[in-house]
Amino acid sequence: MKKLDFLYEGKAKKIYKTSDPKVYAVEYKDDATAFNGQKKGTIDDKGIVNNRVSAKMFKILEEKGIETHLIELVDDRNMLVKAVEIVQVEVIVRNVATGSLTKRLGITEGTVLDPPVLEFCYKSDEYGDPVINDYHIRAMKLADEEELRTMTEMTFKINDILRETFTKVNLNLIDFKIEFGRFDGRIILADEISPDTCRLWEADTNEKMDKDRFRKNLGNVKAAYQEVLKRVESL
Ligand code: C5P
Repeated sequence: MKKLDFLYEGKAKKIYKTSDPKVYAVEYKDDATAFNGQKKGTIDDKGIVNNRVSAKMFKILEEKGIETHLIELVDDRNMLVKAVEIVQVEVIVRNVATGSLTKRLGITEGTVLDPPVLEFCYKSDEYGDPVINDYHIRAMKLADEEELRTMTEMTFKINDILRETFTKVNLNLIDFKIEFGRFDGRIILADEISPDTCRLWEADTNEKMDKDRFRKNLGNVKAAYQEVLKRVESL
């Protein structure tokens, strides 16, 4: 299926229409941003890693009963997906305290969060993706009651599957962000699951194997992304 009209360019991906109105083509870029676009750069071959890791994770989730937008992996940087309407809410799950949570609430870095913490953010560059709750979502009509319930249930199931999966390759899933879309009246998992959107710590050493290496200038960013791809593809 051919890419046709260019539809949208995000920070890390470009979306194209195809000849089938129900199918979009996604192209993963090497561009990296952090802190709501204030820090910009590139991570060599990041697009390849994120495309391939996302495809693998979506396949594993599908096998366990989670519908995702993935139709097929086309090549290193491209996948075909169902043409969803994205719900304008970012859903974050935190298994271990780090990042913005420790800054906002003073919880000590590395504290295990049991049960895991679920957060919603309003997807808005203009307002800096602020944390919101289910009442904001209802009042702002970002999702209806049933969609909210479905997204919440799916998110915890996704957390269980992803934790188990990453553990198999010696990575601890610290936290992650996912997005959902509407397709044929259903809520399905969309966007990506990658070292850009997940915090992954090496199980034995707690070494960061994700975008925090870029955010915090820790070095060896490309090597960490490549290592995650290698491990995920061994699954
Ligand atoms: O920065 P913060 O601690 O809130 O991030 C929580 C998780 O959500 C991290 O895994 C981060 O990579 C992810 N995230 C994301 N996109 C955003 C905000 C956070 O992928 N816009």
